[in-house]
Amino acid sequence: MLGNPYKNAKAQLKEVSKIIGLTAKEYDYLSKPEHFYKTKLKIKLDNGELAAFSAFRSQHSSSRGPYKGGIRFHPGVTEDEVKALSMWMSWKCSVAGIPYGGGKGGIVVDPKMLSKTELERLSRAYARWASKFIGCWIDIPAPDVNTDSQIMAWMVDEYEKIQNYNPRASFTGKPIEIGGSEGREEATGLGGFYTLENLTKKIKKFRNKKPTIVVQGMGNVGYWFAKFALDVGYKVIAISDSKGAVYNPKGIDIEKVVRHKEKTGSVVGIYDELTNDQLLTLDVDVLAPAALENVITGKNVQKINAKFIIELANGPTTPDSDKILQKRGILVVPDVLANAGGVTVSYFEWVQNLSGYYWEKREVFKKLKKIMDKAFNEMWKVHVEKPQLTLRMTAYVTAVSRVVSAMRVLGRV
Ligand code: NAD
Repeated sequence: MLGNPYKNAKAQLKEVSKIIGLTAKEYDYLSKPEHFYKTKLKIKLDNGELAAFSAFRSQHSSSRGPYKGGIRFHPGVTEDEVKALSMWMSWKCSVAGIPYGGGKGGIVVDPKMLSKTELERLSRAYARWASKFIGCWIDIPAPDVNTDSQIMAWMVDEYEKIQNYNPRASFTGKPIEIGGSEGREEATGLGGFYTLENLTKKIKKFRNKKPTIVVQGMGNVGYWFAKFALDVGYKVIAISDSKGAVYNPKGIDIEKVVRHKEKTGSVVGIYDELTNDQLLTLDVDVLAPAALENVITGKNVQKINAKFIIELANGPTTPDSDKILQKRGILVVPDVLANAGGVTVSYFEWVQNLSGYYWEKREVFKKLKKIMDKAFNEMWKVHVEKPQLTLRMTAYVTAVSRVVSAMRVLGRV
C-alpha cells in the first residue's frame, strides 16, 4: 500500500468525525483496535529446521457484533496494515448493515516458499494461538490474500480439537462439505453487479442505454462481475490479468476469454492487446478495478476517462487520487460498499452454521441482493443530501454513525 494504511485510515476517520461531530473520546476509541494480539509462530519445516513467523490479529470494534475479518498470508503484512484493515472491516460491515465489527489477521510469510505440509502446520499454529481470543460469538476469521477454503478447513479442525466441540461458525469461507455457503464463490462479483445495477438506475442517461464497462483483473471477483453483467446485456469492452489486457469495442465474450486463459495462462492474444495502463485510461462509462490496491494513483488519475468507478478490489484508489477524481466529476463507488458481497455471504454462512439449516444458492443470491440494494440506497440518500462529499465519505458517514450509536447505547463512550 502507498503510505501507511493505518495513518490513512485514521485520517479518514478524523474527516468523518468532523462531519458527524464525534467527541474527542469517541474518535480516540475508534482510532485504535479494541484488542491487538501479536506473536511469533514457530513451526518445523520439512527439512527439520525450526522457522518463526510474525503473526497478528486486530479486533477493531465489537459494538455492532463479533469481530469479523480475514487472515492474510503475505511477506508485506505489518501491524499497521492489519490495524487499518480491521478498522475498514468495521466500516464495511456497518455499511452493509450486517451485525459485525471489524477484525483482521495476518502472518508475515510468502506462502509460495512453503510446501503444502508446512503451510498446513503454519495455519494450524495460527488457529492454536488465536483460539484464546476467537470464536463464533467473539471473532470470526475468514480467508484473505493468499488464504483459501483449505486453510480455513485446517484452522477449523485445529480449533475444534482445542474446543472439544464443533463450532463451525467460528470461521467462514470454509469448503461446502464442512459448512461453507452456497454462492460464496460468486458473492463478491455478484454484489458488485448489484451495485452496478443500482448505479445504472440512478443515472438518467443509463435509463435507456446500459453503460459500457472495463474490468481490471480477471480473477474470482472480476470474472463473476463481468459474467453477471454480460448475462443481462451490458457490454464489457476490455478485461485484463497480470500479463496484460484485451480490448474489443464491440464487446468481449467472457467464456471465450476464460477458455483462452485456461489454454494459454493469460487473457492476452484473443482480442486486440493493451497494456494494463492503457486499459485503465480507456474512454468508458464504468471502470471496475478488480485486481490490486493502489492502481489509480497520482501517475494516471488525470488520464482516467471513465465516468464512474466501481471499486471491486480493496483500496484501488489512493486517497489523493480520490480527491482529484471528485474534482474531475468522476463518481467512485467505494470498496466498502461495492465489494461487501463477500463478507455478506460470509455472514450468511455463519447464520446457516449457527442455525444448522442450509439455503439453496438462489436463496443466498436473493438475500444478498436485498442487502446490497439497501446498502446502496442508504448511501445514495446521504449522497443526495450531501453531494459535496465523495461517495466514500458518504459511506463512511453512515458506517461510523452506526458504530458510534451502538457504542453510545452500550454506554461505552
Ligand atoms: P484473484 O487472485 O482471484 O484475482 C486477481 C486478478 O487480478 C487475477 O486475474 C490477476 O491476474 C489479476 N492481476 C494481478 N495483478 C494485476 C495487474 N497488475 N493488472 C491487472 N490484473 C492483475 O483475486 P480476487 O479474489 O478476485 O480479488 C481481487 C480483489 O478483490 C482484491 O483486491 C481482493 O482483496 C478484493 N476482494 C476480494 C473478495 C473475494 O471474495 N474474493 C472480497 C472482497 C474484496
